[in-house]
Amino acid sequence: MRERGIEFVDNTAPGFAACVGYCPTNEIAVKIARELQEKNLYVFMSAATEGKSMAEQLAEEGIEMGWKTRLVPYGGDVTATVHALGFATRVALSFGGAQAGDFQRVLRYNKNRVFAFVLALGPVDDEKHAQAAGAINWGFPTISETDIDSILPTGICTYEHVVSPVPLDRIVSKAIEVRGLKITIAKVPIPVAFGPAFQGERVRKEEMYVEFGGQVGLGFEFLTTKKLEEVEDERIEVIGPEIDNVHEGGQLPIALWVDVAGRKMQPDFEPILERRIHDFLNCAHGIFHMGQRDINWVRISKEAREKGFKFRHFGSILHAKLHDEFGKIVDKVQVRIYTREKEVLELIGIAQETYKQRDARLADMTDESVETFYSCTLCQSFAPNHVCVITPERSGLCGAYNWLDGKAAYQINPTGANQPLQKGRVVDTVKGQWQGINEFVHNASHKTLQIFSAYSMIDHPMTSCGCFECISCVLPSTNGIMVVYRNFAGMTPSGMKFSTLAGMVGGGVQTPGFIGHSRLYIGSKKFISADGGAKRIVWINRELKQELGEILQKIGEREGVENFYEMIADETVAVTEEEVLAYISEKGHPALKMPPLF
Ligand code: SF4
Repeated sequence: MRERGIEFVDNTAPGFAACVGYCPTNEIAVKIARELQEKNLYVFMSAATEGKSMAEQLAEEGIEMGWKTRLVPYGGDVTATVHALGFATRVALSFGGAQAGDFQRVLRYNKNRVFAFVLALGPVDDEKHAQAAGAINWGFPTISETDIDSILPTGICTYEHVVSPVPLDRIVSKAIEVRGLKITIAKVPIPVAFGPAFQGERVRKEEMYVEFGGQVGLGFEFLTTKKLEEVEDERIEVIGPEIDNVHEGGQLPIALWVDVAGRKMQPDFEPILERRIHDFLNCAHGIFHMGQRDINWVRISKEAREKGFKFRHFGSILHAKLHDEFGKIVDKVQVRIYTREKEVLELIGIAQETYKQRDARLADMTDESVETFYSCTLCQSFAPNHVCVITPERSGLCGAYNWLDGKAAYQINPTGANQPLQKGRVVDTVKGQWQGINEFVHNASHKTLQIFSAYSMIDHPMTSCGCFECISCVLPSTNGIMVVYRNFAGMTPSGMKFSTLAGMVGGGVQTPGFIGHSRLYIGSKKFISADGGAKRIVWINRELKQELGEILQKIGEREGVENFYEMIADETVAVTEEEVLAYISEKGHPALKMPPLF
């Protein structure tokens, strides 16, 4: 009893399932037993019905039973079920400090610490019905295959008390949901090593077996909330080719679509969970992930392929880690991995519309209206000294985290990567410097940065990791700046392609004259406002310029510059800095009349 009971205290065994009755076939009995074992639960079996119990069915199939396998037969008589409750009572007496007879304390201990429930299999007679009602006094609900009176409101049990009828193929997942059992997965079930030590690992082109998305490819990742009954926990599907049908060096589109459900889950938490896809996948040895939302880029190494890594293992990782890190709010996780262009194109619009809605939530907030900003240090696995300071008017440079997301992330995990930052004394209003923020950045950057300017790309600009959506850099002779989006593969007027620029800007160092930032930040009134603001933009790659059309029109109206959109060059009219200068001179771009940038 002590040896087993301690497992209920240290959570090696979260609880038990008291299975009464029998299943229509031995095969179903084995399946249910296996499902319960996978969740690390003990299975106490008793009460034969019509002469048969689940334990006898397992015995007929040659399944090993006993304490070691956690499949424990208590006896065929209906009264044998009391041993399961006796076990729970003794755990409360031994480890919960309850005295014999103190039924309230026994109830409280079991309700809060022992995740147990009754599975009523097959017909339920009056005796079994009475037992189900009795189990409620320990905080244990009953889930019945047979249609018996349900007792749904919460009260003594954490959630519902008696739920029926539930088909046998869903009875275990329903029991876990009703009991509020949190799934813990001791080891992520994939054929390659897994851990934070692999997070900073890159998979170079020559080491790569297959890649998805990236600069020229199509891809997105998206996490959404569903109702509990709409999500089947651990359901993982690959729609399109699996790795076995892809040749070495292959390039595929990808959609990682994650449905989560939980009684405490809120749509506001979606961006926080979605952004963690990045570091969860990177923990797998031989898997490289970069970017987020609809600019993700994933590679699988040849070594991982040889070890048996499949596309479906992306789902295994996300299922395990979302339960592990967000167990308080997530009860169920299902993942679909699309690797065919047709479906990815069909779905990407839904994701993009949601990204837009998430970004729009902050529309009327300003940096002055709050005293608190939020930090993000999630990307320190790649750039150990990098810190994003997220303000209402400046989202994280990946574009996936805004101020509200930082706030929600802190609510979910108060000791996590998103901490509230008190602005404190104002050091410089124009550049956006505050004493509280400087102090935080100094510590969080491991004392490599002293000063942080929220609104300047020249004077102590924000550092970059590698996840920025865009890079802005100064084009000195134009007195302006260019902006390039990460999927633009061509040459820019800086004389560098995006990949070379990314090497200069990333890595967590301040690079005056260069910043990584989100697309959305361009439309913010605080976009490099200390350096003259968005009026400095003289070149944007065409695709991004078109996408930002409305925003650029609004910037023109806000700054009193007519035809601002037309004054900005792109690669179709200017590829070198000289060509940009010639173009903007002809158009009378306002940057030419602004004070010098340096
Ligand atoms: S880029 Fe910044 S905001 Fe985005 S996840 Fe990384 S540290 Fe956080």
